Amino acid sequence: MVKKVSVIISTDDLEHTCPNCNGQKYIIVNDKQESCSKCDGKGVILTALGQTLLHFIKKHL
Ligand SMILES: [Zn+2]
Repeated sequence: MVKKVSVIISTDDLEHTCPNCNGQKYIIVNDKQESCSKCDGKGVILTALGQTLLHFIKKHL
C-alpha cells in the first residue's frame, strides 16, 4: 500500500498581516508617511513556515 500524502498550505500559514503597520504598508512618523520597515512596505510578513519555504525554493532555483 502506498500512502498518499498531500500537503495543503494556505497563504495564511506563510504570511500574516504586519502588526507594525496593520497591513497599511506605511507608518506615520512625525506626520509623514514612511514605508514600513518591518515588512519592507509589503503589508505582510513571512511566518517561520513562509521563510522556510522561501529558503527552500531559493535553494532549488
Ligand atoms: Zn508593516
